[in-house]
Amino acid sequence: MIIALLLALQLGTTPVHDRVILGGRVVDPASNLDAVRNIGLTGGRIAVITTAAIRGRDTIDATGLVVAPGFIDIHAHGQTPETYGFYALDGVTTALELELGTADVAAWYDEHSAGERINYGVSIGHIKVRMAVMHDAGTRMPVGDGAYRAASPQQVAEIVKGIETGLHEGAVDIGAGFPYTPAATRDELLAVFRVAARARTPIHVHIRPGVTGLKEVLALADETHAPLHVVHINSSGGAETPALLELIAAARARGKDVTTEAYPYDAGMTEIQSATIQDVYKTAPDERLAELEWPRTGERLNRESFERYTRSGGPLVIHTNTEQMVALAITSPLTTIASDAYWQDGTGHPRTTGTFARVLGRYVRETHALSLMDAIRKITLMPAQRLEARVPAMKQKGRLRVGADADITIFDARTVIDRSTYREPSLPPVGIQHVIVNGVSVVANGQAVEGVAPGKAIRAPR
Ligand SMILES: [Zn+2]
Repeated sequence: MIIALLLALQLGTTPVHDRVILGGRVVDPASNLDAVRNIGLTGGRIAVITTAAIRGRDTIDATGLVVAPGFIDIHAHGQTPETYGFYALDGVTTALELELGTADVAAWYDEHSAGERINYGVSIGHIKVRMAVMHDAGTRMPVGDGAYRAASPQQVAEIVKGIETGLHEGAVDIGAGFPYTPAATRDELLAVFRVAARARTPIHVHIRPGVTGLKEVLALADETHAPLHVVHINSSGGAETPALLELIAAARARGKDVTTEAYPYDAGMTEIQSATIQDVYKTAPDERLAELEWPRTGERLNRESFERYTRSGGPLVIHTNTEQMVALAITSPLTTIASDAYWQDGTGHPRTTGTFARVLGRYVRETHALSLMDAIRKITLMPAQRLEARVPAMKQKGRLRVGADADITIFDARTVIDRSTYREPSLPPVGIQHVIVNGVSVVANGQAVEGVAPGKAIRAPR
């Protein structure tokens, strides 16, 4: 490329890029650039960011639009062509399943090796490995011994070995979810945290609820020195979210490697058969069942319908948080935005399709609770930085700079907003105009581009 540039200078002409993005408001949190620039892309990377005129074989007119690094979602459960399509329309160029993860990292990456619409990756998941070791019959979450039986010392050793194997096979990091594996003892969890500490890899944990849950996981991280990432602090914190954020700030002030994330919705969603639902609602007073919504019909549950739907299985909406707590979590400088995208058998949570447009529309434009620069930092640079110690390829993402991967999201800050709801969770947002993955458009003029799969594996070096 340097030779091509010198030749071009000698000839007195400017190089012709593969593609150019002209006249957009370029916002890059890593450099704090917020100015109108032209960007040239060559060979899937950013070749130039300039005020000068540039030429390309293909031109995107970004006049009046914001040009940002592609959004990075580090908590996305759907990893299918359908959900990658949803994420792309919400501006996401990299979607990683780091909480549940998988029990077989090599097979997982093999299944995606033909390429996907956006960049993809997975963790080695304590929940999934435990399900395999304990021979649990659940398909997505543990429903038998994976949840409810304590592991023998030999089984703990097998779980540890399974996690180490996943890391050797290039897992992005380790995932865990204590409410889904209530029988896992502290010794078992300590053994898992020791693997994270040895590998210096973050462990992404869905904690038990509230301050007690956070203190438990902070103690495990303290004792083992494992880097810790606490998933969806909004839903794990509920009314205690302010106290949780203070505990995380205090741990960071003590020099601990602790981070967290939030999603911008006041209801959660999970499988009705999972331990996290059954352990709470099977014995809860009947009136608390009204916190639960069956999304296929919109009905609030009672004892009879709870038991009926428990037998059939399926996703459930859980109304236990307030917008005030969500806003606090979203706007805290501690949080990355991550969707916790959840999609199952044609339905799911609206966060699957609307998380990022909602942050930009609601919290930046409508309520001014976040500056545009801060919001973009939370959805690009911060998630990339969280992962780059173990996955150096992430240093080329979440930034707009020469040499970085050409993962770019272009949106209209005046109109961007989510449209999906609990009843209509698949509705795409508006205002996300162009989404480019490794130099290739997957969304153009607000519409999905069909038949493209430029997304690559995000994987730790083996
Ligand atoms: Zn999750």
